[in-house]
Amino acid sequence: MADVDKNERTVVVVEDDAHIADLLDAYLREAGFRVLQATHGERGLDLIAQHQPEMVLLDIGLPDIDGFEVCRRLRAKSNVPVLFLTARDGEIDRILGLELGADDYVTKPFSPREIVARVKAILRRGQPDERAEADVLHIGDDYRVDIARREASHGDEVVALATREFDLLAFFARNQGIALSRQQLIDGVWGLGWEGDDRTIDVHVRQLRKKLGDDLPLATVWGIGYRLG
Ligand code: CA
Repeated sequence: MADVDKNERTVVVVEDDAHIADLLDAYLREAGFRVLQATHGERGLDLIAQHQPEMVLLDIGLPDIDGFEVCRRLRAKSNVPVLFLTARDGEIDRILGLELGADDYVTKPFSPREIVARVKAILRRGQPDERAEADVLHIGDDYRVDIARREASHGDEVVALATREFDLLAFFARNQGIALSRQQLIDGVWGLGWEGDDRTIDVHVRQLRKKLGDDLPLATVWGIGYRLG
């Protein structure tokens, strides 16, 4: 395969929902990964054996063997990092309970950007010194958003945030000084499968303000949405 760039890292996506798979494909390619797709578990295992990817994104509900079984068979011979794509809380319990050797999981609906961030974070675990500066974002002098560790802090205090609250804060932190519409926030944070309405964004923003305190320079931009910084 002469056309394969040796520095390009490969991700195998095992997912039978073509829409989700294509979206992940697009975002991962844009982030510089080579992506191989499989819609079935058996085919996924073949691709992994053949191409020795750096990372596997694994759906659980697949047409043949499920993601748990794929992971079990994979772990018999490989330590490749696995990020599970889960649809239900019950699946998360099983991932945690079965000690399958999953490296992380994300719950659908998820934002493709978030997946790319997780993939990079997992791949970086083996190389702590290569951690990018941009993975820690600062908001004014008081707030710090550590993307890789998924940790927000105010001064010396770590602030406990729910998954989506953290995603929302990270999205604001990456887009400081820009007035963001509610739709931009929905696309950037929730992406696929958004089921709420504009009010849901407002509820999350209110929660963020409450948890992070009055020092957070988060302004309401009337008629548009919100602006951080
Ligand atoms: Ca599925």
